[in-house]
Order: sequence, then C-alpha cells, then structure tokens
Amino acid sequence: MAIELIDKDKCTGCRTCVDACPMDVIRFDEDEQKAVITYPKECICCYNCEQDCPENAIYVDPKRVNPIPPAW
Ligand code: SF4
Ligand code: SF4
Repeated sequence: MAIELIDKDKCTGCRTCVDACPMDVIRFDEDEQKAVITYPKECICCYNCEQDCPENAIYVDPKRVNPIPPAW
C-alpha cells in the first residue's frame, strides 16, 4: 500500500485522480461527490494522483512501495 489519504475536506470532486490512476485504487463516490480509496493494495506508488490533484488533497507515502508489476 502506498496511497495513504484523500482529504475529503479538500476534495472538490473533480475526478482528476480517478482518471489519473493506472490501477483500480481510486473510485468516485457518487453520493458524496468525492474520490475514495477503494483498493489501496493495488497502488504502485506512481504519484499520478498526488501530482495531478489540484487541491493537494492526496498523500502518497513513499515509504510503503509495492513492487511494480512486470510489463506484459
Ligand atoms: S483530484 Fe483531488 S480534488 Fe479531484 S477528485 Fe481527486 S482528490 Fe478530489
Ligand atoms: S500513486 Fe498511482 S497507483 Fe497509487 S493511487 Fe495514486 S495514481 Fe493510483
């Protein structure tokens, strides 16, 4: 696991992180209109979500890196 947090108070529901994640880690909660961490164990620590979030609402912990799966 590498992604640690999506701050709901900062999240504006822009969905950028949902589109930016190459894995199935972040999904969009239609009821709350916020991004939510769904499958954190699939996170490969690529930092796309943290870098692309315009509200700085996401924290990815660099100390907890899963091995990047081999290319297929
Ligand atoms: S990119 Fe940031 S503000 Fe946009 S949905 Fe994701 S967490 Fe929320
Ligand atoms: S660091 Fe990469 S793999 Fe992990 S949640 Fe963010 S975009 Fe997805």
